[in-house]
Formats: sequence, structure tokens, C-alpha cells
Amino acid sequence: MPELPDVETMRRYLTAEALGRRVADIEVRDRRTLRDLPPRELAEAVSGKPLTVTARHGKWLFAEVGRGPWIVMHFRMTGSLAVTPPGAPPSRFARVRFRFADGGALEFRDQRRFGLIVLADDPAAFAAAHRLGPDALDPRLTAAAFEERLSKRHGPLKTVLLDQAFVAGIGNVYGDEVCHAAGLAPLSRVEDLSPKERRAVYRAMRGVLDTAVKRMTEGRPFPNGWLIDERRAGGVCPRCGEPVSRAKLQARYTYWCACSQTMA
Ligand SMILES: [Zn+2]
Repeated sequence: MPELPDVETMRRYLTAEALGRRVADIEVRDRRTLRDLPPRELAEAVSGKPLTVTARHGKWLFAEVGRGPWIVMHFRMTGSLAVTPPGAPPSRFARVRFRFADGGALEFRDQRRFGLIVLADDPAAFAAAHRLGPDALDPRLTAAAFEERLSKRHGPLKTVLLDQAFVAGIGNVYGDEVCHAAGLAPLSRVEDLSPKERRAVYRAMRGVLDTAVKRMTEGRPFPNGWLIDERRAGGVCPRCGEPVSRAKLQARYTYWCACSQTMA
């Protein structure tokens, strides 16, 4: 399930492979991906225009066509992007194809069909309308600003981190990784965190997400000591070797090490 690092990696891929290329037309192979957006409206908005700018907010990816509007994509469970060479047959999971004037295509692939494509006039206005909090890697989200936001919240740390209105971009996997890096149990209540612990959460969030983006972009494995590969039955904490704990939180499994992650 794509989270901030996955979507940022896709944004960089899109920038490298498709920026400046002109969209000739679109091929909508599954209308459900567009939700309420009529295919003709999308076609009219993008046809004949180049992709000019990419942006990301949380798990949302934006691509401007010409001087607007913006194509907005969310990958949900299984969505991804692929730029295919001229003459390549469409993937069986391609739901929408943006065919370039030079013969290639940008495919929005989505096996399980929960992903979506819509149009927007402006990414910032779109984020506000969808009540998204600041992007978790936004440089304007300073430690002080983050701690201020966190101090107004209540409830389990992981639940707060996954709330896209609090910060945008963190999902189940990186939520666990941030708690692990902060040395705090995911069920710790944020109202019980000390200022030092709130600071640790911020540092862990930025460190984990920055590192994940860097490693994915470079095609390198994640650092030793990360929880990500041990989030499973029988997993052990890579730091202390203790079996990982598991609990259901908001209908999904949360993993942590009861030994190295303390309860605030
Ligand atoms: Zn541990």
C-alpha cells in the first residue's frame, strides 16, 4: 500500500520519464478509476498539452498539464505508474493510459481498482479541501510546529500519526517504523508524551521518511535495525532480538518491540 516514500519515488520516476512530453489522448480502460469524472472531461483537459510540473502532498501525486489543470492521483492499495515505450501493449492492469504524441504512454496501473484519478485547479487548494495536514516532509513543518500540533492531540501515537489531517503521508507500515525509531510503543497516548518524547517522534518521522525515499530512489535496501521486514508473525526486533508484539489497531495489525519501545 503506497505511502509517502513510495509515492515520492513514483513522483521522481514520473518527473524523469514523462516531464515535457505531450499527451495526445487518453484511453480509459476502466471508468471506475475516474469516479465521477467523465472520461471526455479528462480527455479535453489534457489532450495536446505537455506534462509540466509534478508535486506531491502526503500520498497524493499531482501532475500539471500545460498551465493547468492538474491530474491528481491516489494509489490506495495496489496503484502504480509505468511509462511504456512506443508500441508496447497495455498492461492488463492499466486502468487509464495517457498516450504521448511521441508514441509512448503513461499507464495508471491498479490491480485491485481502489486507486483514483481526478482533476484539480491547484494542489494546495485540493489539499485544503480534503483536509490534509502538512506533508510529513514539508520543510515548513519544523520541530516546533510539529510538537505544537502533537500537543493538541489525544489518543494512541500511531493513530495520530496515521491521521492524514494531522500530517499527510504516513500509513500502517511507516507508522510502525516511526514508533520503532522513536523508541515509543505505538499505543502510547500522545497526551502522555513528554516534550522530549514529542521531539523524538518528530526526529524519527523525518529520519525514517527521508531515509526511505533516499534508499528507494537509489534502489538500496533499508538500514539494518529497521522493523519493516519483521512486521510478521515470528518476527524479531532487529535491535534487541526479542519477538515483536502485535495488536490490532483500527482493524489493522500494528507491530512493535515491547523491549525497546517504551510506553509513555
Ligand atoms: Zn527491540
